[in-house]
Amino acid sequence: MDVVIVGGGHNALVAATYLARSGFAVEILEAADHVGGAAVSEAPFPGVDVRLSRYAYLVSLMPPALIADLGLAVRLADRSVASCTPYDGPQGPAALLVTDDLATTRASFRSLTGSDAEHEAWSRFYDDAQALADSLAPTLLERLPTGEQVRASLPDEIWRDLVERPLGEALERRFGHDLVRGVVATDALIGTFASLREDSLLQNRCFLYHVLGGPWRVPVGGMGAVSAELTRVALAAGVRISVGHRVSAVVPHDGGVTVRGSGPDGGAFVREPGWVLSGVAPAVLDSMCGEAAGTRPIGAQLKINMVLRRLPRLRSGVDPAVAFAGTLHTGEGYDDLERVHGAVAAGAPISSLPGPPPGEVYCHTLTDRSILSPELAAAGVHTLTYFGLHVRADDPTPREQLVAAALAGLETHLAEPLAPLLLTDADGRPCLEAKIPADIEAELGMPGGHIFHGDLAWPWLTGTAATPAEAWGVATRYPRVLVCGAGAVRGGAVSGIGGHNAAQALLELLT
Ligand SMILES: Cc1cc2nc3c(=O)[nH]c(=O)nc-3n(C[C@H](O)[C@H](O)[C@H](O)COP(=O)(O)OP(=O)(O)OC[C@H]3O[C@@H](n4cnc5c(N)ncnc54)[C@H](O)[C@@H]3O)c2cc1C
Repeated sequence: MDVVIVGGGHNALVAATYLARSGFAVEILEAADHVGGAAVSEAPFPGVDVRLSRYAYLVSLMPPALIADLGLAVRLADRSVASCTPYDGPQGPAALLVTDDLATTRASFRSLTGSDAEHEAWSRFYDDAQALADSLAPTLLERLPTGEQVRASLPDEIWRDLVERPLGEALERRFGHDLVRGVVATDALIGTFASLREDSLLQNRCFLYHVLGGPWRVPVGGMGAVSAELTRVALAAGVRISVGHRVSAVVPHDGGVTVRGSGPDGGAFVREPGWVLSGVAPAVLDSMCGEAAGTRPIGAQLKINMVLRRLPRLRSGVDPAVAFAGTLHTGEGYDDLERVHGAVAAGAPISSLPGPPPGEVYCHTLTDRSILSPELAAAGVHTLTYFGLHVRADDPTPREQLVAAALAGLETHLAEPLAPLLLTDADGRPCLEAKIPADIEAELGMPGGHIFHGDLAWPWLTGTAATPAEAWGVATRYPRVLVCGAGAVRGGAVSGIGGHNAAQALLELLT
């Protein structure tokens, strides 16, 4: 075998396809009994025919050029509503709506703030973010640009506000309303435990990745449809996919790499490829290579999947088909986000804090009903996904308490309780499953349950690149081992970018 890929996530499938199409013999070794990693659909509730995007659910960062190049029959559907943020106004319950209809959005900002100024600030801010995204998007499938190149293409104010200074400074200067600041801020905190004000700029990088790919779209057929297509093209290219193969050791040496692990029958296996691509998190690769453990990533999220007889009604009277069509924010005012982060960072369990925990809710089935059986679709059934922020891997709060607090937070905006709306499965249990960081680590091998395999990096080169692997942002300390997963520079998220770039770096090295 020329190349062995450790871990069979969606990035591994991308890398494998490119390499196999270039004539290399490639084998993917995947510990689970299926490939796809976090980009899979499953039907977790017995007797309920709904194929849920079990982990990742929206796609933004997968470049259209990559989809076309690989010949993927993947359809990403637009959402007509970007977000809905319920609040209690002077006239009672209301909601801030950001939709693709400008007049509706402007009117909604006016109702919240009393003038058009905040919406104008919003438009200017997102124009600036778009300018930064536009300067970077064409580089994602190329060698890394240098920071100086990106810097030179942008006005000073954009660079300062989005790159150089903590994002919170720009949000506090540019917006006057706490709720508006909060809606923007959430994109800086998905899968990222950070204060908006901190000097690490982790929040800025997370925000940048959120605007880099354009709108977040719903994968038609669920996230599993994306991995199914990637599997199809990988197999067609001649990739060997070995599931049930857990890798335990990666030993680089002169002329190649020894890969050891255990197969589906429990027996040991050994492979001796010339090159290894790592589709597992950098911290996992380190331990496979016998390196001392470095800083361990800390995931900080709660994901809840639900199947409902119908969508719940809202206190604000906003049509549920509008409110849940985009991202519904709850407990995500700016000050609340900072307050919760500060308390959790100081060691408080999130359950001990007053007020609704910060989280957001999505409905796949308002955009794409193909994940439901015809019977459930006809009956008006919907899926809801809750994604909670700042639920750290080391938070001692029991799962049931986290779920109860999340649902109670959401219910503060609802005109009816959620529990009676939950469908029950064949065993009479409510169709609700929750994933805390510990589950993500146990099920996917993401250390600390960190959904991006570790903290996101700026998508450009700092310093100079001495090798193709460094130039593509996929280097490890071992010349014959490259990163092809979310841990690559520009990895993180369902994008295939890490896989593409590792393959290009290796092709540069070998040809
Ligand atoms: C709950 C959740 C929600 C998310 N939501 C979104 C979203 O909506 N949109 C988005 O873009 N991103 C989202 N993400 C992030 C995104 O899903 C991941 O960053 C991305 O899927 C990582 O892909 P990957 O191929 O690099 O690695 P992974 O998907 O992590 O795949 C790695 C593979 O390696 C395998 N493996 C691990 N250890 C071993 C071993 N020892 N031997 C062999 N195989 C091994 C694992 O089983 C897994 O299949 C989410 C992630 C999670 C967990």
